[in-house]
Amino acid sequence: MYAFDYQRASDAQGAVKTLAADADARFLAGGQSLLAAMKLRLAQPSTLVDVTRIPELKTVQVDGKAVKIGAAVCHADVAENAQIRNTLPALADLAGRIGDRQVRALGTLGGSLANDDPAADYPAAVLALNATVVTDRRRIAADDFFRGMYETALEPDELIVAVEFQAPERAAYEKFRNPASHFALTGVFVAKHAGDVRVAVTGAAPSVFRARALEDALKANFTPEAARAVTIPADDLNTDLHASAAYRAHLIPVLAARAVAKASG
Ligand SMILES: Cc1cc2nc3c(=O)[nH]c(=O)nc-3n(C[C@H](O)[C@H](O)[C@H](O)COP(=O)(O)OP(=O)(O)OC[C@H]3O[C@@H](n4cnc5c(N)ncnc54)[C@H](O)[C@@H]3O)c2cc1C
Repeated sequence: MYAFDYQRASDAQGAVKTLAADADARFLAGGQSLLAAMKLRLAQPSTLVDVTRIPELKTVQVDGKAVKIGAAVCHADVAENAQIRNTLPALADLAGRIGDRQVRALGTLGGSLANDDPAADYPAAVLALNATVVTDRRRIAADDFFRGMYETALEPDELIVAVEFQAPERAAYEKFRNPASHFALTGVFVAKHAGDVRVAVTGAAPSVFRARALEDALKANFTPEAARAVTIPADDLNTDLHASAAYRAHLIPVLAARAVAKASG
């Protein structure tokens, strides 16, 4: 580590102003990715602007089927929030399976989305649930948010304030996790909306993506068998020390079928 300044922001405007004035300043949430990157000298910010005490970013609002979660809400609070568990249980379930207790106590929804790790869990939920990422200056549809490996639609000084979800008819997430980190070696979030099905896959490719073949199959027949019958090509999937592209391609319909069974049960 090396010297840097630390500021604790009390409102979104102040946090954004600091980043706009200094190209090397960065927002800090729980530090679960950023501090590790700094220790490895992959990131060398001049100033860290802590956004975890901004009241607007810490709020959870549930109104009917609408769920709005502040960007600085940690994974443990999403997992344990009674209103989220009632309205959007698949999201609470996903949050409760991120990392370990320490990661869930510090890692945040906004930090996870801004970081956009290819194996992160939340991006699959945001994409399959067709959520909206609300920033200090605009609203970004999930389909437009994720741009590639560690790359999003955010401007360098743009702050995620909250994420808005609409509860679908049914949803579930299944992942084959890395036993050490619990990141998704492959994860599949299935959401059945009124007249539509969205399926998002994480951990298998450079960035989260929608599996259109699975969506088509499940729109016609929302059953585990229909998901299991889909073949996913391995061409654009990742091969690394954990698994081959062919293995990940095999996992996607298997996990989708499990998610459909879970959502239907
Ligand atoms: C051991 C370990 C295991 C993990 N396992 C999993 C897992 O199983 N599944 C999973 O999904 N994740 C996992 N994670 C990731 C973790 O859950 C965090 O979500 C992720 O590291 C982001 O952390 P953070 O919220 O503390 O953000 P930080 O590390 O503080 O910030 C990350 C990035 O986001 C930016 N940022 C933060 N907040 C905002 C905001 N509101 N607006 C704009 N930009 C912002 C920062 O500037 C930085 O670039 C794991 C992490 C660790 C260390």
